Amino acid sequence: MTVHQPGTLREALDLIAGKPEAVPVAGATDLLVHWPARVAEHDRDYVDLSRIAELKAIAFRNGELMLGALATYWDVIHAGRMKEGFPLLVAAARQVGAVQIQARGTWAGNIVNASPAADGVPVLMAYDAVVVLASRAGQEEVPLDRFYTGYKQTRRRPDQLVVAIRIPWRAHDVAVFEKVGGRRAQAIAKVGLAIAHSAAGWRVVAASVAPTVRRCTAIERLLTDGTPVRGPDDLHPAIERDVTPIDDLRSTAAYRKTVMARLLYDDLRGVCPAFS
Ligand SMILES: Cc1cc2nc3c(=O)[nH]c(=O)nc-3n(C[C@H](O)[C@H](O)[C@H](O)COP(=O)(O)OP(=O)(O)OC[C@H]3O[C@@H](n4cnc5c(N)ncnc54)[C@H](O)[C@@H]3O)c2cc1C
Repeated sequence: MTVHQPGTLREALDLIAGKPEAVPVAGATDLLVHWPARVAEHDRDYVDLSRIAELKAIAFRNGELMLGALATYWDVIHAGRMKEGFPLLVAAARQVGAVQIQARGTWAGNIVNASPAADGVPVLMAYDAVVVLASRAGQEEVPLDRFYTGYKQTRRRPDQLVVAIRIPWRAHDVAVFEKVGGRRAQAIAKVGLAIAHSAAGWRVVAASVAPTVRRCTAIERLLTDGTPVRGPDDLHPAIERDVTPIDDLRSTAAYRKTVMARLLYDDLRGVCPAFS
């Protein structure tokens, strides 16, 4: 195994341009989970990004929040103005793993790892986050809700690094994050939900109920149209259109859909006049 430790973004981009099979490493909290089981697979080039100071920034500017690719959950929990401006980020960060994972794990790593059960991705997607990718060929921006192309598949090319995440700063009158897991800490979500409403409209994003974290556009339409909802059962037709959960060791598909309907109903009753 060869570990490269570039000190600048330029060096890192040069490295991965010449070695497209090289693996970028940020906090390594996802990468190391697979280490002992598949040792042979790790005999390759790793590009440790942790020394690149320019990727560590968190900045509020020009009406947006910019998270550098090395921004961790801990950084966000403790950054000023975050709780007021982006409460969903703080809520999700506090529910990731436990404090050790929050201190090492990055938002960019959560995005690129592409787990359907990720906790960071739903809240970023509910805020219309944009993934900023860079390569030697230049910079590209991909809205997070178009970043995934299938289970564990993303639009990132092997010669690209995520360098930042841009999030527009809007006033939200609804902002809810829900994670249903087997316990309060160190849990993988059986169902995750992020709900946000602003002048840009409704955003409803679900985790652990499809091959990727995804926006629930049928639910968003129902909310926009003000369709009457008299109980969780009224949400099932839209949920059927939006998600395709599976039975696995953590839960059944039926349970996930039932929980999703109840969470949505409980969270939105009292907020949406159409919910009674
Ligand atoms: C005990 C434990 C508990 C956990 N609990 C949770 C949880 O509750 N919720 C949750 O969502 N996740 C959880 N995780 C998963 C993990 O901590 C998060 O997904 C974390 O955000 C990953 O960030 P990282 O910096 O450690 O990524 P890494 O492990 O360094 O990388 C993850 C992937 O992203 C790629 N990558 C990283 N940075 C870049 C970049 N800048 N450009 C291109 N590619 C990049 C890597 O090549 C790799 O494919 C847990 C993990 C552990 C071990």
